[in-house]
Amino acid sequence: MLKVIQTLEELQQIRDTHQRIGFVPTMGNLHAGHISLLHQALLDFDVVYFSIFVNPKQFGPNEDFERYPRTLENDLSLIDEELNKHSQKTVVVFAPKSTEEVYQNFNKTIKVSGITDILEGAIRPGHFDGVTTVVYRLFELTQPSKAYFGLKDYQQWAVINAMVKQEKLPIEIVGMPIKRSPEGLALSSRNQYLSATEKSEALYIIKTLRRIDKILDGKRTNIELARSFINEQLKDSQWDYLTMRDHLTLDENISHSSKITILAVYRMGTTRLLDNIQVELK
Ligand code: AMP
Repeated sequence: MLKVIQTLEELQQIRDTHQRIGFVPTMGNLHAGHISLLHQALLDFDVVYFSIFVNPKQFGPNEDFERYPRTLENDLSLIDEELNKHSQKTVVVFAPKSTEEVYQNFNKTIKVSGITDILEGAIRPGHFDGVTTVVYRLFELTQPSKAYFGLKDYQQWAVINAMVKQEKLPIEIVGMPIKRSPEGLALSSRNQYLSATEKSEALYIIKTLRRIDKILDGKRTNIELARSFINEQLKDSQWDYLTMRDHLTLDENISHSSKITILAVYRMGTTRLLDNIQVELK
């Protein structure tokens, strides 16, 4: 059964009728990446809550909040298509009709320090405060046992984990693998801002990440070699960053890390494309 609700009152009423639920928060304009999160949630739970809310708090003043694609009808048909593959399951879509609907009677800002000041946080000041605040609020409203996030937004996943720990929330955070196009481009709502040529140029990002993986070859002793390669790459000013970090703390010092994440942001015109891969080191 698919149920779509738009008000806080309806959400609170229906939530009282369900016990354990899984939760997938999104900003809509769904693609196979989002649906992979829903798929896993439906395997784990009989009832899944799925939010579609373009949260103004996480957009900077010069970012794409106004032009962010809003495609509710198409989103609902993708959700329904996935739901039909699972028998006896329920999806409750919370698509609030306004921002006020979400934030009424809620005046807090939820902040996590440290991990939010680097990488995306350094480039987009305040972004993660917007993310942690909306996710905290949505968690408060939906009270899930597990919530599903994509590792495509790797730092976001790390920040949410830190937020859950800080606020002592009894919620398990699941990090789901990145869904890619057959050529390797990480799926993203922002890819539609790209021309066909830009889309194929954007494959340069995953090719570079895989090249670094190859240079590392799973060996800590190759870190310096990988670093020199990265420094060469960074001469291309379209990289906002390309960096090897500890997979949990996102610390730059990886000399003792058993697992690292190589995070990249590459700019194509005004579109920032995020990607990352994880590498184990011995
Ligand atoms: P968004 O609507 O962009 O806020 O994304 C909602 C959730 O879907 C976030 O947890 C994202 O990390 C996740 N997501 C977006 N793109 C992908 C992808 N290509 N693969 C896996 N998860 C994704």
